[in-house]
Amino acid sequence: MKQVALIGNQNSGKTTLFNALTGSNQKIGNWPGVTIEKKTGFVRGTDARLVDLPGIYSLSPYSTEEEISRRFLFEENPDAVINIVDATSFERSLYLTTQLRELDCPVIVVLNMSDILEKKGITFDVEALKKRIKAPVFLLSALKKTGVNDLIHFIMEEDFEPQPMMRIFSDDIEEAINDVQTTLEGPHRRFRAVKALEDDPLIKVPDRQTVEVWRKSLEDAHQIKIDHLIAKERYDAIVGVKNVVLHQRSVYDSFTDRLDKIFLNKYFAIPIFAAIMFLIYFLAVGVVGQATIDMVDAWIGSFGEWLQTSMVDWGVSAWLISLIVDGIIAGVGAVLTFV
Ligand code: GDP
Ligand code: MG
Repeated sequence: MKQVALIGNQNSGKTTLFNALTGSNQKIGNWPGVTIEKKTGFVRGTDARLVDLPGIYSLSPYSTEEEISRRFLFEENPDAVINIVDATSFERSLYLTTQLRELDCPVIVVLNMSDILEKKGITFDVEALKKRIKAPVFLLSALKKTGVNDLIHFIMEEDFEPQPMMRIFSDDIEEAINDVQTTLEGPHRRFRAVKALEDDPLIKVPDRQTVEVWRKSLEDAHQIKIDHLIAKERYDAIVGVKNVVLHQRSVYDSFTDRLDKIFLNKYFAIPIFAAIMFLIYFLAVGVVGQATIDMVDAWIGSFGEWLQTSMVDWGVSAWLISLIVDGIIAGVGAVLTFV
């Protein structure tokens, strides 16, 4: 049995993809000790067990969600990680991807929301992205279920071999990471080495000395705190990837965009707002309003009179006439004039 973890930012479409991959077979519970939902299920037609991890933006130790995800990756050692990325906010999502690529487990990147890319004027060079992050990439729409079967097929067939390293840092940082790595044992050494340099409290290092020496030397050389340095280099790498794989065409203004330009204009917005409010007031209670009210009043009044005389002729009892004419018709009339 394979175990595959689904991981991504909040609102990237994790739940939608989970449902598309597993169909109706799902088990819902909680992560131990917290009220965060844990869902598992089997990928349709395969023996791969899919685990939905909490929505997170990074693998830092700052939130319960991040801790749960991290602990799962470290303790359960899944055979692979599906990293779902909202393709419409590619740059922000890739931060997590660069961290996941430091783990030992293979990463499958899913670029979701392919159905709305066209409208946003975005195109992806999927092949170039594969080369850059050295991992398989699937462009799909979890909502429209286009491309989902290719992913299922891949999960079914793939043996999940270790992936080549995705190198993103400059030489001196890479050298530090490699050196710290040699002092560590066990899985995910690259990830733990980076985290050790960042002074992550959850990472145990047997040889603090090596880490401290490297940290000091990098901070001196770059004149910036090391966690900021590492984050900055991550972002620089992401921008580099984005510039190569994502093409943004300027989209022709939609009709509503053009309306916004007029109604939200710096100078026109307030006068237009005042004019609209005046118009509404004028129609409701001004000359036009009074005329319509009078008209509705007159119409209701004559209808009431006609009904009353008719009912007297038909021999309807006085209380029922009063109920209908003074109650129902007068009541409805009052509402109508208001409308
Ligand atoms: P989660 O927070 O990561 O679990 O994200 P959800 O699965 O709840 O999805 C967030 C929102 O994105 C929902 O409104 C989904 O309908 C929408 N969504 C998910 N996948 C797609 C997709 O492929 N295309 C489009 N257009 N919307 C999607
Ligand atoms: Mg969800």
